[in-house]
Amino acid sequence: MRAILHIDMDAFYASVEQRDDPALAGQAVIVGGTGNRGVVAAASYEARAFGVRSAMPTAQARRLAPRAVYLRPRIARYREVSGQVFDIFRRYTPLVEGLSLDEAFLDVTGSLKLFGSREDIGRAIVRDILEATGLHASIGLAHNKFLAKLASDARKPRGFVSVDPDQVRRFLDPMPVRRLWGIGAKTEPKLRARGVLTIGQLRQADPAVLRDLFGQRAGHYLALARGEDEREVTPERPDKSISHEQTFDTDLTDLREMKAELLRQAENVMRRVRRQHLAARTVTLKVRDHRFQTATRSLTLRSATSGTRTVYQVAAGLLERWRAEHANTPVRLLGVGTSQFEEGRAPSIDDLAPVSLDATIDAITDRFGSASLTRGLAMGVRERSDRAVPGKPDSEGPKDAETSADHSDRR
Ligand SMILES: [Mg+2]
Repeated sequence: MRAILHIDMDAFYASVEQRDDPALAGQAVIVGGTGNRGVVAAASYEARAFGVRSAMPTAQARRLAPRAVYLRPRIARYREVSGQVFDIFRRYTPLVEGLSLDEAFLDVTGSLKLFGSREDIGRAIVRDILEATGLHASIGLAHNKFLAKLASDARKPRGFVSVDPDQVRRFLDPMPVRRLWGIGAKTEPKLRARGVLTIGQLRQADPAVLRDLFGQRAGHYLALARGEDEREVTPERPDKSISHEQTFDTDLTDLREMKAELLRQAENVMRRVRRQHLAARTVTLKVRDHRFQTATRSLTLRSATSGTRTVYQVAAGLLERWRAEHANTPVRLLGVGTSQFEEGRAPSIDDLAPVSLDATIDAITDRFGSASLTRGLAMGVRERSDRAVPGKPDSEGPKDAETSADHSDRR
């Protein structure tokens, strides 16, 4: 029997805003589009008390909760926090299937020997998330995805609902049929017309009625109504590229400062590469100057590396070459990227020393956050780096277009 967890952060965007700005704690906070056609992306539980729901037009929310705090979404920030949360998931299993920034399925069947029961794992994850981010999550535990998802939704916020196989009927039967995946506003009235209001009633309905309504799909809905769901938890495929870039609020002119920034970025990038048990063959440097001219330079290594030092050295070398052609040009943005990944290979000789140091740094950073530890070079200009605009903390290839709009957001 499989052990599946569905974890869903409570009012995620709104909770991040409340966490980031203590003045918002306990207030009705509504995150969403503020224009005429804006919709609510997230509402704090204080705002939900007024009847505000996500996907509701913001104009309607304003009528319900005129005194609430309305904020535009800061997707880059939510993505950053989401990264922290997903890193916690991956401590317990590699089988993590993200559904959105704040929601995922985890198959922890293979982790039970190491970490204890699925409830133990669920509690540990909730605790780790709270410790690392100050945010609450709801969690559902069951032997398949369908039940786990319904369970996490059953007692929000801060829900913790475990459905044992012998409780499936008691759990499912009273729920409205609408809770079955695929039954929506169109099908529900037809079922109601035949006296089928709950999942239990659907389970016991006349098969001819179901065939009449659903055709070939009748068996599928019957299986769901019995709590049966064979779908696997499918983790995302490894990224095609992993990168990090930073726009500075004051252009950089000092090569030493630029290199310190590259080291910090290489650290961030390679931590993510190693976490996926990958090694990268290609290193890319991105430079944007004060006139918004952007250059990218890449170098492909003879053998793949998982070492921060190697990637940093390549990026620094590419930067020196760029500087040779652009003497004294102020730099507005720097980025380090890696691609052409190879999977699961042993580190090469030149990686060995850095890898063990890297592993130590990764462990400390995972535990205490990235501010707790900085390598020598980055340390000297810590103050400078910290003033950089946190524009695109976590750009990963195709998602770039979405994040780049976030720079001008509030604060
Ligand atoms: Mg959520």
